[in-house]
Amino acid sequence: MDETQISQELIQKTIDFHGHSCPGLAIGIRASEVALREVGPSSDEEVVAVVENDNCAVDAIQFLLSCTYGKGNLVHLDYGKLAFSFYRRSDNKAIRIVAKPGAFGRQDDEFIVLRKKMMSRDLTGDEKERLRDATAERVGKIMEMDLNELFKIMPAKGPVPRKAQILEGFVCDACGEQTMESRMRRFLGQTLCIPCFEAKEKKIQNGL
Ligand SMILES: [Zn+2]
Ligand SMILES: [Zn+2]
Repeated sequence: MDETQISQELIQKTIDFHGHSCPGLAIGIRASEVALREVGPSSDEEVVAVVENDNCAVDAIQFLLSCTYGKGNLVHLDYGKLAFSFYRRSDNKAIRIVAKPGAFGRQDDEFIVLRKKMMSRDLTGDEKERLRDATAERVGKIMEMDLNELFKIMPAKGPVPRKAQILEGFVCDACGEQTMESRMRRFLGQTLCIPCFEAKEKKIQNGL
């Protein structure tokens, strides 16, 4: 047993931020625990998180590490993996944390079985109650598991992702809305934002 080192108070704040307690968030809390130990929190942008999924776990990382989408030190790769990398700019230390298969439980665990059932039909009142209990039990297990049993922890490959860029904005010739320079397109002598560019392109394709 290697019970979480994050205080109950902070865990509760993370749950409040996310909106509910669930196994995905619990995995995010435990991954954050590894990241806090290895690279520390990010007071500004010195720690960059790269997350390979967009599930509940990411909210724990945003809240506990202060790696957030708005600051640009949270990068999402749509790989559908429970994997999280953290890069510290000051010394280039970088780790990748990957949840081991079965982190959510075995395929025949009640939690998994009921969750699958929920996707195809409404659960009965009794099933709902059992799912609630099974979810709480799964969360409890994840929070108590040895971090090395839960995750594979390794150095991360590749360079630190680039700093968020602050670029000059231009006004789109079609809609008049200010748009980042790097997202503008040139089209038949006009400078357009992406939606306007795509709309014009479609018109031409349709022969209009
Ligand atoms: Zn959740
Ligand atoms: Zn536009």
